[in-house]
Amino acid sequence: MNISDHGHSAALPRIALIGTGGTIAGAGTAPEAAASAAYRSAVVSAQDLLAAVPGLQRLARLQAEQLLQIDSADFTDDQLLRLARRVAALCARDDVDGVVVTHGTDTLEESAYFLHLTVKSAKPIVLTGAMRPGTAPAADGPVNLLHAVAVAAHPSSAGRGVLVVMNEEVHSARDVAKVHSMRLDAFAAPHGPLGTVVEGAPRWYRAVTRPHTLHSEFDLAAIDALPLVGVVTSHGNMQREIFDAWVALGARAIVHAGFGGGTVPDYLKPVFHELCASGVPIVRCSRVGAGPVIRNASFDDDACGSVVADDQNPPRARLLAALALTRTQEAGELQKIFDRY
Ligand code: ASP
Repeated sequence: MNISDHGHSAALPRIALIGTGGTIAGAGTAPEAAASAAYRSAVVSAQDLLAAVPGLQRLARLQAEQLLQIDSADFTDDQLLRLARRVAALCARDDVDGVVVTHGTDTLEESAYFLHLTVKSAKPIVLTGAMRPGTAPAADGPVNLLHAVAVAAHPSSAGRGVLVVMNEEVHSARDVAKVHSMRLDAFAAPHGPLGTVVEGAPRWYRAVTRPHTLHSEFDLAAIDALPLVGVVTSHGNMQREIFDAWVALGARAIVHAGFGGGTVPDYLKPVFHELCASGVPIVRCSRVGAGPVIRNASFDDDACGSVVADDQNPPRARLLAALALTRTQEAGELQKIFDRY
């Protein structure tokens, strides 16, 4: 890929756009597609997405590439690694000033967090998507893409870690999540957005203090495949066999999305002790999706050898656990990583 200036000012930042699919690349499938739920995701090319947004060329010199064309539900760890390697390669180039990734919203928070922890660059990396396909009335994709490029092209966005731009808000990949299945304000973070997009530029209100990107210890070059980590979500009447199934599959750790503050049912406590003793650490987080799980609060983590995930939600705890396992298998060291990130 060569980023050319297409006749525009050579002073404009050079932004690489990576298309991966999702609803932002979706199109209605029926005449009644005025209803935005009837559509196919991942059909419009990254080039066509750019062409559909007036004003983009005034913000940046843009070059699009299609890395994947999938519904984000179909992301595997291999594809996640492929995306991270491509973003890292683009960020390493002198002729790229920032990267925008268009992505399905269903797993956008997972890809964003993985890039946040693995791409060694201070250049702006922005993910965006859409809740409605481009054919829907009041489609949100074009304005989200415009804002994503505006944020990626703005010098103040550098060094803030990976950002998610949706619905005029700029979130940190550390804690943003999809919290609604349909609404345009589907993305939220427990500690609030880092900023907003005002008059076409980011306006910042807070910054993340936990390490990321350049200061992260995880090394993509040293990872061929991510260690397998399972997630088991709590509900009434749980069965231990689900945990055993993850062990049989070769899981190196299991994230338990417990009730409330991470509560473990009494009947599972001996199972957790057994698993941790056998070398498969349990990482305790909450199915609630916000707020920390406190070590030793409702469960004796010290006695069990389990780990608490601080305020990370289950999908992000899975990714951090998998990356942490590329550094250590020891529960105390895993805990330090969860405390740090
Ligand atoms: N299923 C779609 C996806 O995640 C939803 C979306 O993009 O909003 O790819």
